[in-house]
Amino acid sequence: MTDAPIFDPDSWRLSGKQGELAERARTLAAERFAPRAAGYDRDAVFPTENYRDLADAGLLGICIPEAEGGLGADLKTYMLTAAEIGRYCGATALTFNMHVSSCLWTGDLLDQLEMDPATRAMHHDMRRVHYRRILDLGIVYAQPFSEGGAAAAGFKAFGTTALKVDGGWRINGKKIFASLAGHADYYGALCTALKEPDGPQLRRNTMYLAVPANAEGVRVEGPWDPLGMRGTVSRTLVFENVFVPETEQLMPQGVYAAAASRWPHMFMTLTPTYMGIAQACYDFTVAYLRGEVPGTPPVKRRMYPTKQIAVANMKVMLEQTKAIWFQAISEARPDPGKDSLMRAWVAQHTVMENANELAQLAIRTCGGQSMLRSLPLERFYRDSRCGSLMLPWTAELCLDKLGKGALYEAGETDDD
Ligand SMILES: Cc1cc2nc3c(=O)[nH]c(=O)nc-3n(C[C@H](O)[C@H](O)[C@H](O)COP(=O)(O)OP(=O)(O)OC[C@H]3O[C@@H](n4cnc5c(N)ncnc54)[C@H](O)[C@@H]3O)c2cc1C
Repeated sequence: MTDAPIFDPDSWRLSGKQGELAERARTLAAERFAPRAAGYDRDAVFPTENYRDLADAGLLGICIPEAEGGLGADLKTYMLTAAEIGRYCGATALTFNMHVSSCLWTGDLLDQLEMDPATRAMHHDMRRVHYRRILDLGIVYAQPFSEGGAAAAGFKAFGTTALKVDGGWRINGKKIFASLAGHADYYGALCTALKEPDGPQLRRNTMYLAVPANAEGVRVEGPWDPLGMRGTVSRTLVFENVFVPETEQLMPQGVYAAAASRWPHMFMTLTPTYMGIAQACYDFTVAYLRGEVPGTPPVKRRMYPTKQIAVANMKVMLEQTKAIWFQAISEARPDPGKDSLMRAWVAQHTVMENANELAQLAIRTCGGQSMLRSLPLERFYRDSRCGSLMLPWTAELCLDKLGKGALYEAGETDDD
């Protein structure tokens, strides 16, 4: 029996495209990704086979504009689709997000920001190169931003530098937690542009460059044996004097910094993975208590009032999580108002924390046999713990922003 959609198209008034893409992802992930998920997790290996399926289903180009040959999904449509993947394989959904971001940033997001005609034309020429690779060759992009300092949180310029040289850029730096390390064909890296080797490192000079994985000086290092999201293979990436040709810019210089501040909902794209896991925890609990999970003793537990209350509480939490998330992604647009932005932080915090809360409630409610490694619940528990750690909107930083946002208006200080 196929699972019902997380967001029923009629009830949530989805567009035809939203319903169709979410359905396509759900069918693919339920049939192909779910049976493979335990193996990727156990061995901490990248879901290569799933990426072949994503390419065959056209989903690698989900956020490439239709005019360029892609499926033309906007941010909300992508999020609804990706949540269905997260429901069956968290590591595939999270790495898929890194790939898709390279198209979403350069596609719908920038198309909605003003640009002078010459810069727009230059950008369209640049992005076409990447889009053709993805659509024609099934090429996969990663998104290594994090460096272990304050840059990924948005407080400092990136320490990875791009020095201007003849015909391109010379890249030096190190990225941590680079999901798809060793598996992506290109690393869409954020770097700080420099005119001379010791020039000032300024956030407004952030560049978004596609570094070919096979370029000389690109190295993947360190072990990968984490608690959860093991299939993301988020190892350390080192760039040592890597030459990147001029044509490998994903955005014209100077555009990223403005885009990041004007399109804050973009940082919510890490949440659909965890929205999917939240749904999976609830689905598992219902099936388990009904005695319907394959591989478990056919004992029904649903007649006990404590189980009914527990599952009712899970339903309340799941529906609250879905509602705030759906509302926040529906409000995604450039330059959102303060109220809308604060709701996005609330939604981010809610999804990331509740996914893990639902996983632990599921284990407590279903009982000891439910957390055996032969079942997916313990993986949901471990994978869901990672959501709150994702910069720039970690659960802590969301609270930080919300507290300040609630108590201060723009420009207010306590120095008087
Ligand atoms: C499975 C997984 C996959 C990932 N994949 C990618 C990827 O593909 N690309 C990528 O770029 N990153 C990726 N990340 C990295 C992620 O976004 C974070 O950068 C990383 O988890 C930060 O780890 P850290 O120990 O350096 O945290 P720290 O920066 O030390 O932060 C620890 C905590 O302190 C808080 N904190 C941080 N800065 C501040 C501040 N200025 N003020 C107040 N509080 C602060 C935050 O709440 C944070 O959770 C991934 C992480 C995981 C777990």
